[in-house]
Parts: sequence; C-alpha cells; structure tokens
Amino acid sequence: MKKNDIVEVEITDCGINGEGIGKLLGFPLFIKDALIGDTIQARITKVKKNYAFARLEKIITPAKERITPPCPVAAPCGGCQIQALSYPAQLTFKEKKVKDVLMRLGKVPEGLLEQVMEPIIGMNEPYRYRNKAQYPFGTDKEGNLIAGFYAGRTHHLVTTDDCLIGAKENKDVLDVILRHARKHHIAAYDEETRTGLLRHVLIRKGTHTGEIMVCPVINGKTYPKVDSLIEELTKLPGMTCIALSINTQNTNVIMGEEIQTLWGTPYITDKIGDLEFRLSPLSFFQVNSQQTEKLYQKALDYAGLTGNETIWDIYCGIGTITCFLARKAKQVYGIEVIPEAIEDAKENAKLNNIDNIQFYAQKAEDELPKHKEDKKTDIIVVDPPRKGLDEKVLETIIYMEPKKIVYVSCDPATLARDIKYLREHGYELEHLTPVDMFPHTVHVETIVSLQRTDT
Ligand code: SAH
Repeated sequence: MKKNDIVEVEITDCGINGEGIGKLLGFPLFIKDALIGDTIQARITKVKKNYAFARLEKIITPAKERITPPCPVAAPCGGCQIQALSYPAQLTFKEKKVKDVLMRLGKVPEGLLEQVMEPIIGMNEPYRYRNKAQYPFGTDKEGNLIAGFYAGRTHHLVTTDDCLIGAKENKDVLDVILRHARKHHIAAYDEETRTGLLRHVLIRKGTHTGEIMVCPVINGKTYPKVDSLIEELTKLPGMTCIALSINTQNTNVIMGEEIQTLWGTPYITDKIGDLEFRLSPLSFFQVNSQQTEKLYQKALDYAGLTGNETIWDIYCGIGTITCFLARKAKQVYGIEVIPEAIEDAKENAKLNNIDNIQFYAQKAEDELPKHKEDKKTDIIVVDPPRKGLDEKVLETIIYMEPKKIVYVSCDPATLARDIKYLREHGYELEHLTPVDMFPHTVHVETIVSLQRTDT
C-alpha cells in the first residue's frame, strides 16, 4: 500500500475523533467523514508502520444511519465531526465510547459497569443548543474580511455566519461587526505577520433570559469608530453587555486577559433551573444550558443530600453546582483558579440568597491540601477540565476520606484513569451516566458517583 492508491473498504469502527476505521488485509485505515457501515472508495494519503490515513473519495454504499447533514459546511468545518450520523446513532456511539474506555483504560469490570451505568441522556432537539460562540476573523483571497470556523485541526477558515448548533442571534451580531469593519477598513488579524486588528468575537446568549454578550478580541488597545459599532449593536434585541478583550500576544489562546466593558453591564445573567447566574466574558459556563440542568440534577441525585453535609466543590467555575449543592447541604466550599469566575461565584451566591458557601480563588492542587486535616468532609464534587484530576488533588481526596465522590467529566479517557486510581484506593463506582452536552461532536460528558467501600 502506498500514497495515492485508491482502495475500496468497509468501515467497521469509529475512532475517538469520529473518524471511520476500516481494515485492508488487517491493516487499519483512518478515514475522516466515513461512518461505521459505509462502504467507500478512498485515496491513501499517508502510510505509517502499523496503520494508514486515507481520504474519502466516494461513498459506494452508505451506512444505514447516514443522513444528509443539515449544515452546508458540516464536512469542512471542524466544529461538528459526526453530523452525518443520525442522532440516535450518535448517542449509541457515545455510550459505547464511555463504556469501552472505562473498561480499557479504567480497568472497570464489564459486569460492574453494566450494573452502575444508566442510559445516556440525549436532547430532544439537538440543534441551536450552544449558548457561546467564538468566531475567528480572516481574510479571503480577494482581501475581504470574513468570519467562520477553522477547518478541523487547521487554521484554514471555513466561512459561515450561521452555525446550526449556535444561537440564531449570532448571525445578526456578525453581520453588524463585519459591515462596520468593512466600512471602516478594519482588518482581520493575521497570525503569520501579526498585523491586523480583529482576532475573534465571543458571543454569549442567556438561554433563558435572552440576554446577549458581545466581546470582540483585538490585537490592539482601542477599537476604531467604536461608538458607531456600539450604536449598531445596541439596536439588536437582548443586547446586555458589550465588552472588549485585548489580546496582543502571539498565541492561539482566544481571549486576552484584559477585558473592558464598553456598554451595559460587565456580565449577562442566565438561569439554570430556578437559580440565576451572572457570567462575565472570561468565566466558564457550560455551553449547553438545557443539558446542564439535567447534568446538575444528576449531580444532586448522586450526592443524595440530607441537609447535614459538608461538601467541597472543586473546579467550581462561577459556582453553579456549588449553589445547587448549598441549598441542600450544611456547608459548601468551592475552589476555582480564575479570579473573575470566583468574583462571579460570590455574586451568584448572593443573588440566590445562599450564605453557606466559602469560595477560594486558587489552584485546586494548592488549596485543597491546606484543608486535608479537615475530616468533616462528607462529599467531594469535582468537575475538572479535560486533563482530569491533578495527582495532588487525587491524593488529598483519598486522605480526606469523604464518604462519596461525585465526578463530572468532559473527557472519558482522563475520567477512566482517575476512576482506576480511586478504585485502587478504597472507592467503588456507584452510579454513572453519560450526558450528551455536545450533539454532533465526538465529545461526551459523564457523571459518576463513587462510594467509600469501608463505611
Ligand atoms: N463546575 C463548573 C465549572 C467546570 S469547568 C460548572 O459546571 O460550570 C472546569 C473549571 O475548572 C473551569 O472553570 C476552570 O477555570 C477551572 N480550573 C482549571 N484548572 C484548575 C485548577 N488547577 N484549579 C482550580 N480550578 C481549575
């Protein structure tokens, strides 16, 4: 087998990034946009020692779960990887992904998994779910300013102004910014030459309140003709916060550290269940509000609170799960590394008349060990970023001996690694539910509870 060979192959598996996997004389081929069940013609693009990559050239027989993706740029855009798979088949794929990785990396016995694992929680309407969009700007071949999304793993911009998993309002915001920038000759930032001004725009919408936040990210200190931009943006319904993010660094981190409020409040407010939350441009907020409600409900169910508990909520963001827990517990402590998020978290507790939370704006691995002698802790809730729990955090949790651990994870691989550790250190899986927070992408959220075995 060599580069540019044309081969016919049946797709029999799906990789972790949603790519199709087929075997040719036992040799695995990885093919983007091919689905399990497809028989395809593909062109070999790269041959490695034990596997090869190929490009989908033609679908000979489509998989029975294959559908025509509603988004016209579903294939080139890097945002959705599995839009061509029917939604029920996506849910099956994600459930299997969680199960496989927990067995393979987490060494969880299949029998136990079957006992504790509940069916994945999907969405009824799996479009328009994202409450946050970050559109990069670029320049087309004719030199015109454009906005869109990067094609999978590249920095090539696919033009689109109406992402179907995002809010309808994003298009109107983009129209205003593009029209204004073209009129005033404001150029897109160019990563190679490090010239040009407009890098990204962050748009957030309060799913329940309809409040809109717009925050352009610029390679400079000031936004030209900003008054006329504000005037146009404030004509849009729901406009609540217009802020500016300064990012003059040579980095692919989107947001700069400095945020200026240009108009309105420095935050928007949204609701989850019956609680209200303020979020500012730099704060983390779950992107799918509808599913978040279901996820947090599971967290509460799994915690099984009676009102007497002392709880640590680690990686607490703007204090969302923290507030839900606090209403049903005696005392909650929250740890989060971003100071702005902790400011929001304190405001959020006040906003909801909750006074039994203490927040720490610190790294979990630095703060938690300071409290390790505090053996009153009944439950520890963790919701770490993709890299999972820090070793120090894991060690401290074990030392603190909570009766229960509730783990919210956005990466099954690191979850599996951490579950393996916890099972080896006196905890056993009690419940587990995958939640589809990100339809049409390969990502899956999982919520787990573990119980101390010697209590
Ligand atoms: N529980 C919250 C946030 C979860 S996202 C919610 O449901 O909304 C993970 C959070 O961990 C982010 O807010 C991120 O800023 C924070 N974080 C990342 N690394 C951290 C660390 N080392 N220590 C504490 N918090 C961290």
